[in-house]
Amino acid sequence: MQRLRVTLTGAVQGVGFRPFVYRLATSLRLNGWVLNSSSGLTVEVEGEPAILDEFLARLHREKPAPSVILTSESSRLAPVGFDRFEIRTSNDAEEKTVAILPDLATCGDCLRELFDPANRRYHYPFTNCTNCGPRYSIVENVPYDRPRTTMKIFTLCPACRHEYEDPRDRRFHAQPNACPVCGPRLSMPIEKAARALLDGRILALKGIGGFQLLVDARNEDAVVRLRHLKAREEKPFALMMPSLEMARKYCMVSEAERALLESPAAPIVLLTPSGEPGIAPSVAKSSPYIGVMLPYSPLHHLLMREAAIPLVATSGNRSDEPIAIDNEEARRRLDGIADVFLMHDRPIARPCDDSVVRLARGREMVLRRARGYAPMPVRVGRTLDPVLAVGAHLKNAVAIAISHQVYVSQHIGDLDTVEARETFERAIHDLCRLYRFEPRVIACDMHPDYASSQWARASGLPVVEIQHHEAHAASCAAENDVRGEYLGVSWDGTGYGRDATIWGGEFFAARNGVFDRIAHLRTFKLPGGEAAVKEGWRSAASLLYEVEGATAIADTPAIARMLERGVNAPVTSSVGRLFDAVAALSGVARESRFEGQAAMLLERAIGSIETREAYPLKDGDWAELINAVRRDARAGVEPGLISARFHNALVVWIVETAAASGIRQVVLSGGCFQNRYLMEHAVALLEARGHVVFTHQRVSPNDGGIALGQAVLASSTSG
Ligand code: ZN
Ligand code: ZN
Ligand code: FE
Repeated sequence: MQRLRVTLTGAVQGVGFRPFVYRLATSLRLNGWVLNSSSGLTVEVEGEPAILDEFLARLHREKPAPSVILTSESSRLAPVGFDRFEIRTSNDAEEKTVAILPDLATCGDCLRELFDPANRRYHYPFTNCTNCGPRYSIVENVPYDRPRTTMKIFTLCPACRHEYEDPRDRRFHAQPNACPVCGPRLSMPIEKAARALLDGRILALKGIGGFQLLVDARNEDAVVRLRHLKAREEKPFALMMPSLEMARKYCMVSEAERALLESPAAPIVLLTPSGEPGIAPSVAKSSPYIGVMLPYSPLHHLLMREAAIPLVATSGNRSDEPIAIDNEEARRRLDGIADVFLMHDRPIARPCDDSVVRLARGREMVLRRARGYAPMPVRVGRTLDPVLAVGAHLKNAVAIAISHQVYVSQHIGDLDTVEARETFERAIHDLCRLYRFEPRVIACDMHPDYASSQWARASGLPVVEIQHHEAHAASCAAENDVRGEYLGVSWDGTGYGRDATIWGGEFFAARNGVFDRIAHLRTFKLPGGEAAVKEGWRSAASLLYEVEGATAIADTPAIARMLERGVNAPVTSSVGRLFDAVAALSGVARESRFEGQAAMLLERAIGSIETREAYPLKDGDWAELINAVRRDARAGVEPGLISARFHNALVVWIVETAAASGIRQVVLSGGCFQNRYLMEHAVALLEARGHVVFTHQRVSPNDGGIALGQAVLASSTSG
């Protein structure tokens, strides 16, 4: 048995939708409820997974004729034992919030017009209708009406006005409605931009939520040049494919993955490469997966139709700065990176990167929540206090809690630069203004140095500090509506622990917001502190020093001294750092050029190796594991096999700890669980032992999900 939760937005209210849902659910003998609130229509039903699949498919296929579904987000939850199906009413607070929709990919009707030579919008790159087009990226204030969008500077021509005012027209009250006569215009012809791409040049394109940098994905020199100029030496690039057919040529695309690619959110979907040659090697060297998206705006459709090649499509920024949105700003910040700028005069109200998702356990797992998802809320199981949660430091996203809904902002990014901190502050004010929200409490991370925490402490409002790994676990538990006691497995690279050491390999027995740290990875020293995050060999040296003594690291005397004296060598229980160490010892990677690279390479090394063998990791003590890795590496065992035995060791440790805890429900969160091998193997083994396992679906397991956990934990802990 499973519980399916679906939240729909669009024309689903006042069109007989609730009676339709009622009839459909009861005809399939599914119990649950349907609720209409200003943030959309939410349905929960319980049953066999296959019947839930049928329900979901028929919900879309057989919906009442006048209704239109714009966005649809679903989660698979644990059943709670509904005894009937009911139509519920929402509460006041939920009614008062105004729905703001995310940006929606171009619909089929608009696409047909775009390529119809007889249509007045033939080849017009800003075509949209009430069912598609920009929303969140153009809204400046609520209620959502043209004068409160960035479209206010364009005056509707008579033909567009007629469409806008005709209730029978597809563009009735379509706020961004426009045409070649009255709407936004491009700074240069699309053909010229496509030509530049085919010539191997770098194009800065003003997209929906900001600028993108595009380059021919088949051209190794061009891709390498973009990497160099953007100061992004190794982190994987995403691709935009001209068509689903071309995506299928280079990647394996399952039916569920196809649905994600073609959904109105049109995210980047992480796919397994097919092995087809042609994509430049430098596109995604480190990852076992390749991120792919399809054109999602008329401008992208036109450009891709013209160029007809796979393109690298990456955020318009240098390194990990926020994405540029303004024409002048882009000229300035992308100067020296882009050869050609394809811009237009429709302003972007706020930055919103492309979202990243993947399929795991047969479900959608959102890894970066941004365009197409933000600012739709995540529903939680109880009423929350009005909390503003400011998130972590890296991969920052903020959130506000209104009643049962947590509005998680779009991905903001790492808060290392002044620009990023300004974007962070603007995102907070923006979210509060749009939702008429006044926070009474601010939740932040316990870390003394996070820019987000410092902002919170300087705000003048009461602050609740939430431990990083407790927030991870609470985030996953909240989006999965976990009730009662659970075992929180919270693994990542770095987080500030309650004992002022660096945590990252934690097990919590959690109940009612109270966390008991029942187990953790055996601690070790990180010689050089922060430097060890980039230089994984330092973690390896530290573990060797512990296991084999100073002679094992005689070639790095400075490190040996740090470890001996405990100077500049903070203590950690981080599983992320253990990944780094094993990557170094197995010969996979001595360093990480971006966060988590060594771990990604280690996962990739497994390839198609299948083994159940596991190194010993009894109670999280890595001593024997390190000895075994060392032995195997010296004996010339292939790195992929070492990696598989290491991953299996972690899985066995999770299962043994879960068994010892006697807790049935297990929650897996933290950046380590982006690792598909680790996550899926842990889930399979835990389920085989009778555990109910919860993993992320609507928010990210990485620090992008921290704000949700903070919001939930800062609120009252009853229930
Ligand atoms: Zn449309
Ligand atoms: Zn017009
Ligand atoms: Fe984390």
